[in-house]
Amino acid sequence: MSDFQYDLMIIGAGPGGYVAAIRAAQLGLKTAVIERDKPGGVCLNIGCIPSKSLIHQATVFAEKSLLQDMGVKIDVSGLDFSKVFHKSRLAAEKLSQGVQFLLRKNRVEYIKGYARVEGPHKIKVDDKGSFTTKNILIATGSRPRDLGGDFTINEQDIISSNGALMATTLPKSVVILGSGAIGLEFAYVWNCFGVGVTVVEMLDRILPLEDREHSELLKKILTSRGMTIMTGQKAVALKRDTKGLVITLEDAAKKQQQIEGEKLLVAVGRTPNTENIGLESIGISLERGFVPVGDYYQTKVPGVYAIGDIIASPLLAHVASKEGEIAVTHMAGAPSHEKRIDPMEIPSVTYCIPEVASFGLTEDDAKKQGLAVNISRFPFSAIGRAVASETTEGQVKLVSIKQTGEIVGAHILGPGASDLIHELLLARHAELTTEEIGSMIHAHPTLAEAVVESAYSSLGHTLHI
Ligand SMILES: Cc1cc2nc3c(=O)[nH]c(=O)nc-3n(C[C@H](O)[C@H](O)[C@H](O)COP(=O)(O)OP(=O)(O)OC[C@H]3O[C@@H](n4cnc5c(N)ncnc54)[C@H](O)[C@@H]3O)c2cc1C
Repeated sequence: MSDFQYDLMIIGAGPGGYVAAIRAAQLGLKTAVIERDKPGGVCLNIGCIPSKSLIHQATVFAEKSLLQDMGVKIDVSGLDFSKVFHKSRLAAEKLSQGVQFLLRKNRVEYIKGYARVEGPHKIKVDDKGSFTTKNILIATGSRPRDLGGDFTINEQDIISSNGALMATTLPKSVVILGSGAIGLEFAYVWNCFGVGVTVVEMLDRILPLEDREHSELLKKILTSRGMTIMTGQKAVALKRDTKGLVITLEDAAKKQQQIEGEKLLVAVGRTPNTENIGLESIGISLERGFVPVGDYYQTKVPGVYAIGDIIASPLLAHVASKEGEIAVTHMAGAPSHEKRIDPMEIPSVTYCIPEVASFGLTEDDAKKQGLAVNISRFPFSAIGRAVASETTEGQVKLVSIKQTGEIVGAHILGPGASDLIHELLLARHAELTTEEIGSMIHAHPTLAEAVVESAYSSLGHTLHI
């Protein structure tokens, strides 16, 4: 009989915490997860899922032009955005309830409340007292980063992604600070619904972590749809006038200009939730704002682990979940080869249309590292399925080692990118070469033919261009 009430207590039921809880229970650990808000965390409640619902509905709305091409007369004057909002909340609530069901099914105890670590084996939950546990997993996630000063988020006219997701009406115009995935996904949604969108990026290109060629291609596409995209511009001041917000931008040469918008979305990153959870009580200090962890996501305190947005890995739901699986497998002592996720194999997706998906090295990264690589591309405009479905923007781009055909980077901009990227990721994971991808038959007509053609292209030939 263990001296502790639980084998594992997890703080936070986001995609890190709830997945870890399910897996821990499956591995035989007596597990509890403590959540101050709703099961599913940011991802299901105020992140990935409601934003994808908005994106889906925005796409349906924008595709009215396809019906118009058929001669159908469409009157969109009755658009009621509160109905769009409502559907996005239904998707979030359905999945949050689904998490609660999965926790129950796996006999994970769900404790509602705010938790703090009181010792290496002790957690206090507000109103519920203290609990003892053999292991602790901290998965408290993150919140929108607030720039403060003139740009302090008030969720009225200066909003974060939270305010953007909870809005029941459409603004006339929005300025978006930050052109990462979150900023661009909202830009896409608002643009589809006819809102005036200006994206402001401090760096020299949008989606700065993506391959430069795809950043530039996407900028062209979004600009052609009526968005204004301003790169190399820092927002330095904000005031209000009768029309709304007036934002002063400054470029690298300190030249200033002013732009206006009814609302400002601040999408400049996330702040990890590491305060007031008792880290200091067990001697854990942060490194560059994040909890330092080892290969199995263990902190320096034996039995205490940390995963997800509070550690220095990409702030993505699937990363948090995988880290959770690895951490609990380690604490359960179950056999496994898995340890710290290989950063070269983390897929990342921006879900605007066209989608942008990638993993591994960009062309610039490969050059910087002095690798002898083949850069191969294949455009969707030469893919039958893309032509038939009128989605020909973009391409598949591969970065592969010249001598061996090893894939060290894959970048897809175009239809189905979020799914297609996984064929290439599996190929890398299984150590397949571009030649082996090329030797695998792909159904016709499919978008996946662009993957096989990009592999052919790296071998020096293509069939359809
Ligand atoms: C608008 C938006 C869109 C996004 N889209 C995507 C996407 O498409 N794909 C993707 O991979 N990622 C996306 N993300 C990022 C993703 O949501 C996060 O990376 C992910 O949720 C992190 O998971 P987590 O478990 O670490 O933390 P979280 O999901 O933040 O969950 C942490 C949980 O801990 C709880 N908590 C915190 N402190 C305490 C405490 N002291 N006691 C009890 N409970 C506590 C919180 O209430 C929260 O529920 C998006 C984020 C946003 C904001």
